[in-house]
Amino acid sequence: MIELKDVSKTFKQGNETIQALKHASLRVDAGQMVAVVGPSGSGKSTMLTILGGLQTPTEGEVWLGGIELSTMSEKERARERFKNLGFILQSSSLVPYLTIEDQTTLHDKVLRVKPDYARRDELFAELEVDHLYGKYPEELSGGERQRVAIATALYHDPAVILADEPTAALDTERAFSTVKLLKKLTHEKQKATVVVTHDRRLLDDFDVVVEIRDGELSRLS
Ligand code: ADP
Ligand code: MG
Repeated sequence: MIELKDVSKTFKQGNETIQALKHASLRVDAGQMVAVVGPSGSGKSTMLTILGGLQTPTEGEVWLGGIELSTMSEKERARERFKNLGFILQSSSLVPYLTIEDQTTLHDKVLRVKPDYARRDELFAELEVDHLYGKYPEELSGGERQRVAIATALYHDPAVILADEPTAALDTERAFSTVKLLKKLTHEKQKATVVVTHDRRLLDDFDVVVEIRDGELSRLS
C-alpha cells in the first residue's frame, strides 16, 4: 500500500549536514495501523512528510499503491496527495478564511466532486466539532482545531492516513477516542495508517510500533 525503501534524508545548513533519516525502510499494508515513536528531533516528521510526498528523499524510494513517487510529475504527486492521502499535520492544516463547516470544500473543489454533507456531518459529530460550524479556525481552542483537522482529513475517505501527533492538544479521553476512531477506520475500511505519537499509553491500539532514534528506524512490536 505505502512503502519506504532504504530512504535517507540529509539537510544542509551552512556547512553543517544533518542526517534526519538513515536508510529507513517501512511497509504499511491496507488495514494496518502503525505508530512511530521516538525523541524530539529524531526524524519522525521527516519520515511522515516523505511518506506523503511532501518532501523528497535524498536517497531511496517511496511507493504509494504500486507507483514510485519520484517517477511522477509534481502535478501528479499533488493530485495523488489530494486523492489518496489524509494528512493530519502538526501545524494546523485548516484554512484560516473558511468557517469550520466549509473546511471540507477545498477537497471537493480540487477533486471536482459533489459535497457530501451527510458524511461531513457524521464525521464532525463523531469528533464533537459539529457545534462549531459557524466559527473560524482562529476562534477555536487548540484541541478543537485539532479535531476539526482530523475530521477534515478523513472526509474524502483517503486510502492512506498520515498523522503527526494528532492527539498532542487533546485531553486523555479524547486522545483515546481519536485513536480508537482511527483504528476502527483502519481495520473496517482497510486504510493504511501511520501515526506519530509520543504518548505511549496509546500504543496498545496499534498493530505495529516503530521507533526512530537519530534517524534510525527500528521495529519495536
Ligand atoms: P521529529 O519530528 O522526530 O521531532 P524532525 O523530523 O522534525 O524530528 O527532524 C529531524 C532532524 O532534522 C532534526 O535535527 C531537525 O532539526 C532536522 N530538520 C528537519 N527539517 C529540516 C529542514 N527543513 N531543514 C533543516 N533541518 C531540518
Ligand atoms: Mg515532529
